[in-house]
Amino acid sequence: MATYIVLLGPPSVGKGTQAKILAQKSGLIHISSGELFRENIKNNSDLGQQAKSYMDKGELVPDDVTIAMVKDRISRPDCKEGAILDGFPRTPVQADALQKMLAGFKGDVNVVPFITAAPEVLIERASGRWTCRAQGHIYHQKFNPPKVAGKCDIDGSDLYQREDDKVETVAHRIHVYFDQTAPLVNYYRVQNKLVEIDGTQPIECVTTSLLSAIKK
Ligand code: AMP
Repeated sequence: MATYIVLLGPPSVGKGTQAKILAQKSGLIHISSGELFRENIKNNSDLGQQAKSYMDKGELVPDDVTIAMVKDRISRPDCKEGAILDGFPRTPVQADALQKMLAGFKGDVNVVPFITAAPEVLIERASGRWTCRAQGHIYHQKFNPPKVAGKCDIDGSDLYQREDDKVETVAHRIHVYFDQTAPLVNYYRVQNKLVEIDGTQPIECVTTSLLSAIKK
């Protein structure tokens, strides 16, 4: 049976870092809605142009645009065995749409690890975050620095600071999270799929907690 994992949690809690590690360990495909948008912006596609103004302000891209993009990605053959969803769903409308998409190929969300940390931790993490241009690998100047400053350890590409990782925008993204995404905690809790994980632990400990949540 296919395994679909939804990583839930506020911005900068470590979902992207953990999703990449889990994908490597499990062989499941990692789908990051934020990265899909950033790729579209890089390629200057219509979708990228639509999404950019929302992203730069730290707002959510409208549901219909986001749902269509993720549906296109998750319907590809490489997701037949399952996927790790990072940053999607972010609203109850998106969560309902995901359920319908997966039902279309007889799948379901199996488990929802909910990674948590206090807002001040999130702001510190986002403002020191560096992202690799080629594949979105994530570093932090204090907590997880690259071996060579400004270069990705994995693919050697340049690291950059995301426009929406500025302090004011991060604070707004956290507000948007509590307003629009936090209701999903209960959405998945009542379905008995939620597993809470302390995101302030060291990266390896969060991974261990995630792996044990997924095995169950
Ligand atoms: P992320 O890389 O997950 O932090 O996402 C970066 C930005 O992309 C967000 O602040 C939103 O503007 C947009 N975005 C990513 N995923 C979604 C989503 N599921 N729904 C709406 N907007 C999204």
